[in-house]
Amino acid sequence: MTSERTPEETVARLAQSLRLRLEDDGRAGRVAVPRAAHEPRAPGVLRVGMSPAASAAGSPREPTAASRPCSGRPENGRRAEAVGDAHLPRSSHAPENRAADALREELATAAQHVEGQDLFDFGSPDLEGGTSRQDALKRVADEVAQCTLCKELADSRTQTVPGQGDLNARLVFVGEGPGEEEDRQGLAFVGRAGQLLTKMIESINLTRDQVFIANILKCRPPANRTPAPDEIANCLPYLMRQLEILRPKILCALGGVAAQTLLQTRDGITHLRGRFHPYRGTLLMPTFHPAYLLRNYTKDARQKVYDDMLKIQAELKK
Ligand code: URA
Repeated sequence: MTSERTPEETVARLAQSLRLRLEDDGRAGRVAVPRAAHEPRAPGVLRVGMSPAASAAGSPREPTAASRPCSGRPENGRRAEAVGDAHLPRSSHAPENRAADALREELATAAQHVEGQDLFDFGSPDLEGGTSRQDALKRVADEVAQCTLCKELADSRTQTVPGQGDLNARLVFVGEGPGEEEDRQGLAFVGRAGQLLTKMIESINLTRDQVFIANILKCRPPANRTPAPDEIANCLPYLMRQLEILRPKILCALGGVAAQTLLQTRDGITHLRGRFHPYRGTLLMPTFHPAYLLRNYTKDARQKVYDDMLKIQAELKK
């Protein structure tokens, strides 16, 4: 690794080396490894399925069957919005966990490589030559649309989901990967979890149009399974380029996979959430994934997410 290598090149190289190693071993590892100042709403908790007015009024309503997570997102073993790091295997002698550990180590090395540097000081080749943000983001989306790095995902997707939102967003949300509805529409967070994300955004008096919403993966994993490490490594450079172009003030990582991938940690979301983590010249707030919140629709969980959103709102005002 030379100091001239960009993070994108580093991640791409790691993806390649991991693929080679897995092929050598004949096995495949699996690891889950706004602009205007807005007044805060009176402290409360997020409520799904309520109008903002009803929510502000504080009328309690637990989710109806229709507002519970869709059956396409199983409770266990697939999407990993679970609290803690159950989806991120800890060290063990199991071959798949050794592969996971190897990926973590290599990505940790990559993270160390850029430690102390501002990712966004690297310059953004996409913006050179008078290219607009819109053009630069479109170029990334076009490349994503052509991407076949992950054969299984490329073969099974309806379309890619590059992410969408305000080109001048100061707040960017990063989820795990598209679900069924996102795959159908080509837009991030437009299903049940997306509806709750909209509530989260509106809880700090922003709208979806004022933020940018993206995912770690740009293609839907079949049956919403947890992204594989090589898929994450293949796809991460696209997100990194989007972030270089957008240069947001704050990133909000939704769920364990997004938080652990971006922060290169195996700490669980329960431990990570609730505080800002310095992240390459920006601030990253991990919070529970809205799909997790839908499954665990407790007052406590809703309050925690709302608290995280209020911290984001306060930081945006600075
Ligand atoms: N879950 C995610 O992580 N991302 C989406 O876009 C939708 C559901």
